Amino acid sequence: MKITMVGTGYVGLVAGTCFADSGHDVVCIDIDRTKIDALNAGQIPIYEPGLEELVHKNVKEGRLSFTTELAPAVGASQVVFIAVGTPEGETGDADLQHVLESARQIGQALRHYTLIVDKSTVPVGTADRVREVIAGATRVEFDVVSNPEFLKEGAAVGDFLKPDRVVIGTTSERARRIMDPRSAELTKYAANAMLATRISFMNDIALLCEKVGADVDFVRKGLGADRRIGYPFLFPGIGYGGSCFPKDIKALIATARECGIEFDLLRAVERTNERQKRLLVNKAVRHFGSLAGRPCAIWGTAFKPKTDDMREAPAIEVIEGLLGKGASVCCHDPAAEEIARRHFGDRVRYADTPYDALEGAEALFLITEWNQFRYPDFDRMKALMKTPVIFDGRNVFSPTVLRDMGFVYFGIGRGS
Ligand code: NAD
Repeated sequence: MKITMVGTGYVGLVAGTCFADSGHDVVCIDIDRTKIDALNAGQIPIYEPGLEELVHKNVKEGRLSFTTELAPAVGASQVVFIAVGTPEGETGDADLQHVLESARQIGQALRHYTLIVDKSTVPVGTADRVREVIAGATRVEFDVVSNPEFLKEGAAVGDFLKPDRVVIGTTSERARRIMDPRSAELTKYAANAMLATRISFMNDIALLCEKVGADVDFVRKGLGADRRIGYPFLFPGIGYGGSCFPKDIKALIATARECGIEFDLLRAVERTNERQKRLLVNKAVRHFGSLAGRPCAIWGTAFKPKTDDMREAPAIEVIEGLLGKGASVCCHDPAAEEIARRHFGDRVRYADTPYDALEGAEALFLITEWNQFRYPDFDRMKALMKTPVIFDGRNVFSPTVLRDMGFVYFGIGRGS
């Protein structure tokens, strides 16, 4: 089948590449010429495990190509996916300008019956708007299908190739009843809202643990063992970030408000998340008094492990908080250094290894739970640091082991 992917970001590049790997002919389109030039030169603009090899293989075998020219690809395709960004708008609602603009361009380029599939995360009713925009630009027959994407950055290729579920919403008579587009659109937001709610719920429980002297690790295990609840997304930490949860929660609140519903539960989820992002800096101020002039090391700037994505990353809030209080910051991230440099410039220093970041540091802030941070050489760390103080934002280390070794340890919800 001939497929066009409009939007070659995290979702479009992964989806397009995986479709090509399944034997389809795929053209990935983007308006960002730099990105397309890089891809045509064999460079992958994002860090995603397993993606680079897959892109190279499918380009070499002639099933995958990249271009900024939308019309020829769309005109030759049976299926066109929209996978452009839907960032947060000015009032928290989803900004649909890229979706509607690509719909207009797709409409102008249609040559025969084509299935248009919306993969971007979009508010309820967007499939209808996309249909109207395309209908205004063509006389060719087409259908619009909603097919929200559930892949996770860091595990995107595996998630895409072996998803838990594929949600498809359509009113097409050709497809007969599957799910309607509005239900499909809402399913995506409801899923992210539920996961974010679990995280904030655990973060509130963690706060309570600190107050009453309980250990959130035990509570989490006891809670997750209940099969009605389960273990995933019960980890306390310094808040969720990334390109999806923050904007999708806001968009769902905005959709509800347009319908006259105040989604109080989700507003509380957001408030808890904002508080969590400030937690470590507040703990540091309580411990040190003043942070002015104190060298601090940061391990991890990406919003989660195995990605270079720093959109809405808690690291941004932590680093800005430290800089705002006069601390100096040296950070290390296995994949996101380039993006961190774009963000902070020379306001912070960048270390090639986790240990380099620790030299002379008075405190370590562990922000992203990359596997390579889990079992470090603690003796070496202690020797490098000026004072052995650790603020563990992801509860990666054992408090007892570290305290026995002479570290001052602060975690989340672990009685400190
Ligand atoms: P992204 O910002 O990484 O990529 C979007 C791409 O679309 C950019 O390269 C941009 O240049 C391009 N673009 C914008 N307008 C265009 C146009 N008119 N024609 C061609 N290209 C255009 O975004 P992303 O993370 O891939 O997310 C895309 C959508 O998928 C969003 O709605 C997001 O919420 C959703 N989603 C993302 C994830 C994720 O983990 N990143 C997971 C599931 C769903």
